Amino acid sequence: RAIPSQGAIGAGITIRNVVKNYGAFVAADRISLDIEPGEFITLLGPSGSGKTTLLNLLAGFQAPDAGEILVDGAPIQNVPTHRRGFGMVFQSYALFPNMTVAQNVAFPMRMAKMDRATSDRRVAETLEMMRLSDHAGKLPSQMSGGQQQRVAIARAIVMRPRVVLMDEPLSALDRRLRESIQIEIRELHQTIGSTILFVTHDQSEALTMSDRIAVMDAGHIVQIARPAEIYRRPQSRFVASFVGESNLIDAQVVGRDGRVLTLRTPGGQVFEAQSRHGVQDDRATVLVRPERITLHDAPVPGSMPATVTSALFLGEVLRIEVVLDDGQTLLIRCPDIAGRDLPAVGARLNVGWGAADSWVLS
Ligand code: ATP
Repeated sequence: RAIPSQGAIGAGITIRNVVKNYGAFVAADRISLDIEPGEFITLLGPSGSGKTTLLNLLAGFQAPDAGEILVDGAPIQNVPTHRRGFGMVFQSYALFPNMTVAQNVAFPMRMAKMDRATSDRRVAETLEMMRLSDHAGKLPSQMSGGQQQRVAIARAIVMRPRVVLMDEPLSALDRRLRESIQIEIRELHQTIGSTILFVTHDQSEALTMSDRIAVMDAGHIVQIARPAEIYRRPQSRFVASFVGESNLIDAQVVGRDGRVLTLRTPGGQVFEAQSRHGVQDDRATVLVRPERITLHDAPVPGSMPATVTSALFLGEVLRIEVVLDDGQTLLIRCPDIAGRDLPAVGARLNVGWGAADSWVLS
């Protein structure tokens, strides 16, 4: 948990059975979510899953049709947006074009009638934090997209709000810039200690930034957990395929030892996998991440013969596709081993993974 060093303390948020309909369409379907003070929560999901709807309900741009939202225990449904005191950042930077960077950042302080000395000090501190001090006198049009978004973030946090809402703030930026601002936002969060609710459809962004990720699908939160848990132990096929690359293997359960299952592929290959509670069905879908699969030149216990269908050198890893003898295809990402050639298409090799590298979807 972040320890606020600059006075602001994040608020706890409780969302309870919140519903939002657009006509007959249910955009938020009885959503409940508890957010700890100072937590960085990401709403992650495909387009149309209800992420922005949930953020808009928190911001007060829209009212829920049912349910309630509490901030530090107090209901906020009847509090208008400007009185909620939340910081907000959107994909479009929405800066005032005729104001300088410093004036843009000072704007919330002016609205709050903060005294000049405090405002000046806060603005200077915040510009420093966002590495914008050298740009204080510039107009937004004189700055790059990444710099403009840093100004928008500075403006959102200058009041040290209890809650900051960010809706796809980095989507308009190129990948490098996005990755560097992700790290900046993460560090900023540790410094200011505000509770942050961040919306993205980019799974790697969510994994990088969040204390916890709430994965959304069709107006529901389908799983909420820490990034490593979401990635390693997804609860459903949907989460497994939406977050990261996945091999999903349908197999028959032939043995159980507590939470370790023994499974058989349609081609008769036997392997082990971990599960959350053991599975009652005699069929299961098993997730194996591409980087957990090992290639062997010769068979080893538990490995399976396969034929290479594609092999690419990507620099930091090799990306290899194989087909098992039963027709199941697997994607593999493995380190480049010095002195070893990229496998040729059509080559026969053996692939394997351990029980701890595979996960039974419940
Ligand atoms: P995106 O990543 O595309 O922004 P999202 O997960 O943020 O998606 P929302 O913007 O919350 O999704 O929208 C959820 C669903 O509600 C979508 O199918 C959208 O078309 C619908 N919707 C959103 N706002 C309205 C509105 N004002 N009137 C009618 N339907 C709406």
